[in-house]
Amino acid sequence: MPDGFPEICGSLDEPCRWTMWNVEGQELYLYSLMLLAVLLLVGRLWMRLNVWLKGQDELPFDHLPVRIGRVLKYALGQYRILRDRTGGIIHGGIFFGFTALFIGTALATIDQDITAHFFDQKILVGWFYRFYEATLDAFTLFFIVGLAYAGYRRRVLRPEKLTYSSGWNFVLFQLWLLVLTGLILEALRLAALDDFIGDTWGRWSFAGWSLAQGLLVFNDNPGTWRLWHEGMWWFHSIQVAVFIVSLADSPLKHIIYSPLNIFFSPIRPRGKLKPLDLEDESIEQFGVGHLTDFTVLQLMDGDACTECGRCQAACPAYMAGTPLNPKKVAMDIRRAMNHYSDNLGVGLHPAQKESFEIDGAAMPVINLAHDGITLLTPEAMWACTTCFACVQECPVLIQHVESIVDVRRHLVLMEGAPPDLLGTAFTNAERSGNPWNDRSSRLDWTKPLEFDVPVMAEKKKVDVLYWIGCAGSFDPNSQKTSRAVAKILNAAGVEWAILGDEEQCHCEWARRGGNEFLYQESSLPIIETLNGYEFDVIITHCPHCFNTMKNEFPDFGGNYTVVHHSQYIAKLIAEGKIKPDYSNGRSDEMGAAIRHITYHDSCYLGRYNDVYESPRDLLKTIPGVQMVEMARSKDRGLCCGGGGAQVWMETHQHDPVNQIRLTEAVNALNGDVPYDVADAVRKVPETPVKVDKPGTVATACPFCTIMLDSAQQSMQIEDIQIRDVAEIVAEGIK
Ligand code: SF4
Ligand code: SF4
Repeated sequence: MPDGFPEICGSLDEPCRWTMWNVEGQELYLYSLMLLAVLLLVGRLWMRLNVWLKGQDELPFDHLPVRIGRVLKYALGQYRILRDRTGGIIHGGIFFGFTALFIGTALATIDQDITAHFFDQKILVGWFYRFYEATLDAFTLFFIVGLAYAGYRRRVLRPEKLTYSSGWNFVLFQLWLLVLTGLILEALRLAALDDFIGDTWGRWSFAGWSLAQGLLVFNDNPGTWRLWHEGMWWFHSIQVAVFIVSLADSPLKHIIYSPLNIFFSPIRPRGKLKPLDLEDESIEQFGVGHLTDFTVLQLMDGDACTECGRCQAACPAYMAGTPLNPKKVAMDIRRAMNHYSDNLGVGLHPAQKESFEIDGAAMPVINLAHDGITLLTPEAMWACTTCFACVQECPVLIQHVESIVDVRRHLVLMEGAPPDLLGTAFTNAERSGNPWNDRSSRLDWTKPLEFDVPVMAEKKKVDVLYWIGCAGSFDPNSQKTSRAVAKILNAAGVEWAILGDEEQCHCEWARRGGNEFLYQESSLPIIETLNGYEFDVIITHCPHCFNTMKNEFPDFGGNYTVVHHSQYIAKLIAEGKIKPDYSNGRSDEMGAAIRHITYHDSCYLGRYNDVYESPRDLLKTIPGVQMVEMARSKDRGLCCGGGGAQVWMETHQHDPVNQIRLTEAVNALNGDVPYDVADAVRKVPETPVKVDKPGTVATACPFCTIMLDSAQQSMQIEDIQIRDVAEIVAEGIK
């Protein structure tokens, strides 16, 4: 029996945790050190919380079960992090290793200072203690593998999306130091106690025990290792204290801020922007132009960013070579907070604070120069397609799109400075009810049809109101989709009608372009018109109309059942009401190409509203059609480049997004699909893109069709066609 073996453990027959071995009596120093570290950390966190609280709105505490579920899924479950193969392995190893060691340390503390001290009962005994030791050693090895891979990636692979800074080097160094000193500490204890427990339960700490055997070969005097152990114990404890303090300011701060950000992230439909109250005359500021115009959550976003670069890697605007990088947007918010921390007066004595605190209007954030970097430039803000890929990929649920739209709102509503062409589209919509300034009838697209299209003004009550939208009414290519849907509804015997000339643009694109005033001014009369008729459901073939009518109209009194045409057509096929068929060697206008299809996901249909399967289902059920998926599909689909009012702006893309996406579609049709989405095409190829086998790129959005058509013309790619799913179905039921 070794000297000092705890009485509560009894004999050495059963494994029993001997906490504070070799450092008995030093608890007071240890706990004082840890308390000091925690107090310093809490002080720093309190100051940062006060910076966030300078923002608008309050921290939300509603929907607690949903918020807790999000923390379990995204923070503890690492749901999004593990989707990324390389980053997932690295972060998974480090995170789960770190978490297991943290829980292990907490258990040992509870065992020593609570259950044994107050209840004369040990937890860490017997088989549970064996399992505890083996598990912690296994997770220590995961931790080491994760750290080694992280070092290799940062030193050798050096992916563009990561941030390379002294802060991150310090973090890696610190984690190495923590895990290695912890393992060595265990080995020194096992080497010193080898005579007593080495052949029994000591082996369950297999990593530490193996290291201890190496130490004993080198020197078999337990007293030597006992001395080393005491020194290493203090070295490790000081490392832990430094680690705790650095949680407030080093890149490790994401350990605290990320779960907080996940917990407080907004709970509302993804496709719904927060309305501005334009009636309230006391409001002097619309959108974000100054630090304190951001909401509390937007400011918290800035600190929660882990700089992982997943958003950057998924961003079409970044791929295209525009000045926009969503990671920089998040980091710019953080930099702006740091820039103005003195002005905010946080952490200062109240007497000093008065002289520092200045009005929010004096803290501009747009084009702010900070440490040689220009923050939140209008050029970057206008390059966003609002595709939501950044938000979708972000492991800590940062809401980049909301912040970008808020800055646009400031630029348009406060500074009156939209990009030139967008300003023209605003004026067109105000004058003609559509951004094309087309004054022709919204019934013109029906002229080539062989049947009359019913209008609501005559019918008053129908089962289905078909909302055509501006593209479907005026753009010649999109008019084909309108006619295809009309043919399908007729063939299926649906009772339907359109608004015809009562329809006008709701200006959803203007809302994304910062012009909330135009959106509300345009949408309210539409809602009034719709509320004057009776119908069961609205169908629309434009995902932008679908999104705003479904998710945003309810804020203004428009509550309808809205479905996308792909959902409705898939239902008609499933019910057997229409039977498109391309089998039996059929060679009509669409020809062989229609039998070989890849589908391009629209962002506003897919990522915004989770409609991924209906367009695929309806294509897959058509006899004779074969589908192939692109490398980036469903929630990882790549934008066509047209959303967020981009269609109405002059773009400055070095590698146009629509051309990148069309190249990816052709690659898929050619059977060239990389195993890992990280290897998908990111630049427009310098050599001409060739089609091996004629095929079709199916779309479910008029703007995607317009953008991909335009790419096809620019790239002069032959033997493929860009067709809306409705056209494919309508051709198949001829
Ligand atoms: S919404 Fe799309 S384009 Fe805009 S920043 Fe995010 S990923 Fe980039
Ligand atoms: S915003 Fe999110 S995805 Fe982008 S770098 Fe930060 S944590 Fe990563």
